[in-house]
Amino acid sequence: MVQIRTPIAIGRIVAVAAFVFLTGCGNGGAQETFDVVILNGRVIDPETMFDGVRNVGIRNGTIVSITEESISGSESIDATGHVVTAGFIDTHHHGAGNPWGVKASLRDGVTTPMDLELGTINVDQWYADRDGKWVANYGAAASHEFHRMRVLDGMPIAEPADGADFARLRNESYDRDDTPDWAVTRASIDQLNQMLSNIDEELRAGALGIASTTGYMANGITTLELYNVQKVAANYGRLYASHVRLLGNSNPPTEATLGAFEQIANGVALNQPLILSHNNNFGWWEVEEHLQALRDRGYNVWSEYYPYTCGSSTIGSEFVKPDNIGQLGLDYTDMIDPRTGENMNREVYDRIVAEDPAYIIVLCIPAREEWLPMWLQVPHMTVAGDQMPPVNEAGELLSWDDPYDAYNGHPRTVGTHAKTLRLARENNVPLMQILAQNSYWAAKHLGDAGIEDMQVRGRIQENMVADIVVFDPETVTDNGTYTVGENGRPSTGIPYVLVNGTIVVRDSQVVDGVYPGQAIRYPQESAGRFEPLDRDIYLEELLAPAFPFDDGIGTAESDR
Ligand SMILES: [Zn+2]
Repeated sequence: MVQIRTPIAIGRIVAVAAFVFLTGCGNGGAQETFDVVILNGRVIDPETMFDGVRNVGIRNGTIVSITEESISGSESIDATGHVVTAGFIDTHHHGAGNPWGVKASLRDGVTTPMDLELGTINVDQWYADRDGKWVANYGAAASHEFHRMRVLDGMPIAEPADGADFARLRNESYDRDDTPDWAVTRASIDQLNQMLSNIDEELRAGALGIASTTGYMANGITTLELYNVQKVAANYGRLYASHVRLLGNSNPPTEATLGAFEQIANGVALNQPLILSHNNNFGWWEVEEHLQALRDRGYNVWSEYYPYTCGSSTIGSEFVKPDNIGQLGLDYTDMIDPRTGENMNREVYDRIVAEDPAYIIVLCIPAREEWLPMWLQVPHMTVAGDQMPPVNEAGELLSWDDPYDAYNGHPRTVGTHAKTLRLARENNVPLMQILAQNSYWAAKHLGDAGIEDMQVRGRIQENMVADIVVFDPETVTDNGTYTVGENGRPSTGIPYVLVNGTIVVRDSQVVDGVYPGQAIRYPQESAGRFEPLDRDIYLEELLAPAFPFDDGIGTAESDR
């Protein structure tokens, strides 16, 4: 798919011309003063494959100069012995709308955390709530799950909700009538039209696409619903990002691949940008081969992984119910209770699921140990942490000032990106590759989907946005573990992070009171694009051109 860069390129030329006029000299001159300079770092840019020691000059949030000449600025960072590269972009972050979640990820090098898997409801207000108040960049996709709750469970959800709210909202759906309709109930055409119309309104308001936890709603969502939900986003040329429908362990297991192929087939039919969330189940290699072949034909499709062998989910999820967990080749001893750090059993499961069906547990899948080092090397597979909502032992959301050790849950919330840098070092994976997985490929694919804010990020080049991470390649590491009290230990070896040219991590401490984050968003449109489905008309339109065939091979007469 050809990337449309013309408007951005013109913007750059104007910006550079204005700069030359004001200062009377070209880029990189020794006499210039920048807002921030990052000196003597090893600059690595996967798009251009550049790798060399340079000085980086930043002004007004933009990388203005990358040079071997000496430069100076109001702020100066000595990056000797460190890598200087584009800030990490995370497309699957359930803490992205929560200040503590953002803080922990800044320590992990993430400058743009976004939840494109579960998503957001009331997108317009969600963006407005963060305008001028957010330290990292922020973006939202419309949530299929929350829109199912609104229509099928009759939950109004009048305020913005995102990953920080999903456990509360799932519990509310159980409390209402014991049936989580969002998960298990099939929509009538009228209900589907209502849901699609509501989602269309989110897209009109600038949502990045549709986020879908399809795997949690596997029995509720028909193929007709899935296709038409994807289509609402495709009407705008926007992406669909999803946890695939099926998980299982027939012999050989085919469920996860079939779940992926369903969404890929829809995406290809609709020519739609597509992210497959955490492609980490049996057959992931088949899915990657499909994605690669489609990219070779110009389709904008890719997948994510998080670098852990254990997953994390709510305990009431359908796929871990007693009839289903065996289908995963697992049992309740593979489940960890984060409050105790101990493996569970059926008795403990029964007790917790009755008390708190949205309680977040950890679930370990041994086969992933063999696959994890391979994922580091897969082209276009992006690192996305599936960071969980930041809660304490009592399940209460953390706030900005809460300490790191207050977090109780899967360590992927704090350590995903640094862990991939450590694993790359330990497994001799080139920095160029692992950095492309952490920043460039997400920016490239999102930019190709027409998100202009991403066409100027994920690259460390002159005239790109100064979202930058500075890390020590010899020592950078994750520190969060599954042990209680260690879940939230922040990553180390990342002394500086900049968002839009502002230093937000200084000497490995997150800076208080700076809000340089910018919205990642499509422009709002004046009218929506949704046209309601009518089952009869739908079938008629689909079949009409076949009788008679345009090519004369068949006629209505001969086909009878
Ligand atoms: Zn997720």
